Amino acid sequence: MSVAGPPDDAGPPRADAPAAGERTPPVIHGRCLCGAVAFRVLGALGPVVLCHCSQCRRASGSAYSPNASIDDAQFRLDRGAGAVREHESSPGKVRAFCGQCGSPLWAARPGTGTRRVRIGVLVDPPPVKVAAHIYADARAAWEPIEEHLPRWPAGPPPKLVATASGAGAYQRDPPTS
Ligand SMILES: [Zn+2]
Ligand SMILES: [Zn+2]
Repeated sequence: MSVAGPPDDAGPPRADAPAAGERTPPVIHGRCLCGAVAFRVLGALGPVVLCHCSQCRRASGSAYSPNASIDDAQFRLDRGAGAVREHESSPGKVRAFCGQCGSPLWAARPGTGTRRVRIGVLVDPPPVKVAAHIYADARAAWEPIEEHLPRWPAGPPPKLVATASGAGAYQRDPPTS
């Protein structure tokens, strides 16, 4: 389902608007878990990084926060201005999230003209690949970047158990014969 946003801004042409005959920049849609907040990014994302810093881990409840920088001029809030909440996680830096569902949305240092959008809330697959890990030294001790761990195509199987080494293991059902 495609949720059409409001018509594009009807204001005067922006300095960065494409001139007639130029290619229209890509539009990347994003929205929070509950759908109260929706936004668009006009044009290309900056390099996508996976931030392992302790603040991103807490803010996301996850091992790292995939994010990419954009210019504020590329950003359009389609809906949910009243739902967006901000937390100043360090002086001058705010992390915006949906006040209804808690989805992290972007982080910014107001006045810099840029913000870092959270890649996990993008509706469209970002047309980029991950460029780098950042704050890798702050990676959680429990976060395995190990390729040999078992992989499951969807949710965890019912008997994923912790082993003595801390790694997960799949406990097979006993043979029925
Ligand atoms: Zn929400
Ligand atoms: Zn971070």
